[in-house]
Amino acid sequence: MPSSIRHILTWASGILGQAGVSSPRVDAEWVLAHVLQCSRSELHLRARQPLAVAQCATFRSMIFRRANRIPLQHLLGNTEFYGLPFYTSPDALIPRPETETLVEVAIDHLTDCPNPRILDIGTGSGIIAIALAKERPASHVIGADISHGALCLARRNARLNGVSDRISFVQTDLLAPFAKPKHFHAILSNPPYIPRSAIDALQPEVRAFDPRLALDGGSDGLSFYRKIIPRSIPLLARDGLLGLEIGHDQADAVAQLIRRHIGLTHTATYADLCGHPRAVLARKQI
Ligand code: GLN
Repeated sequence: MPSSIRHILTWASGILGQAGVSSPRVDAEWVLAHVLQCSRSELHLRARQPLAVAQCATFRSMIFRRANRIPLQHLLGNTEFYGLPFYTSPDALIPRPETETLVEVAIDHLTDCPNPRILDIGTGSGIIAIALAKERPASHVIGADISHGALCLARRNARLNGVSDRISFVQTDLLAPFAKPKHFHAILSNPPYIPRSAIDALQPEVRAFDPRLALDGGSDGLSFYRKIIPRSIPLLARDGLLGLEIGHDQADAVAQLIRRHIGLTHTATYADLCGHPRAVLARKQI
C-alpha cells in the first residue's frame, strides 16, 4: 500500500530525530514540499493523499542524505535571506539569519547617502552585497572573495535577484586591489570568525559542509578583524561606515581593535534576534 503524506512524514521525522537533526519534522516537511513542488502548508491539507512510487523514492533518498547531516539548504539548493531567494552550494557559507542584523543596520545608516559605493569583503554567496544592492537601487556594490567557486555562486545569485548590473565581483584576498583613497561610503564584512580550535566541535552540518575557509578566524577568531580594520580606513570616505559581523562573544575585543586605530570611531554594537551581539559599526572620523 502506498504511503500517505502523513505517514511518510512521521517516518522521516523519526529517522532525522534519531540522526540528531535539530528540527526533524520541519526539515522533513521542507524536503517533501520540495519533492512535491508545493508549499509546506499544502502538505497538511493533503495529509491523506498517497505518494507516487517515484516521489516516495526521491523523498526517501533525500531524507537519508539529510540523516547524514547534509544541510537542508544544500539538499534544496536554495534558501532565503533578508526575504530574498539565494542559491546555495558547498562553495560558500550557507546564509545565516543573524547576518540580517548587519544588512539591516547598514541600510539604516546609509539612508542619507544618495549613491553609496559599498564594498562587501568575503562576499561568499553574495548575500550582503546583493541585499544592499536590492534595498538601495542607486548604490554601486563590489563583492570581493578569494574563492572562485564562491564568486560563481554570488554571480548566479546577483542574476537571480536582478542586480547584476550594479554589482561587480572581484577575486581577491581581502582589500588588496582597492587603492582609491576615500572611495567607499561603506565597507561591510562577515569574515570568518570561529577560533580554529572550536571548529571541530561545531555541528556536523557546519564543520563538514561549510567551507573551512569561510569559518576559520585563526587561533583566537580575530585574525580577519586585525587585517580588515586598519586596511579599511584609507579606503573609506569621510564619515564612511565600517560594518562587521562578529561572533557572539567578540564585541568587546572587536570594539577594542577599532578604538586602537586613529581615524575610526566605534559607534555601536547591535544584537541579533536571539539577543547576541552580532554587528559592530564604526565611522571614519576624517
Ligand atoms: N558574506 C557571506 C555571508 O555572510 C560569507 C561569509 C563568510 O564566508 N564568512 O554569508
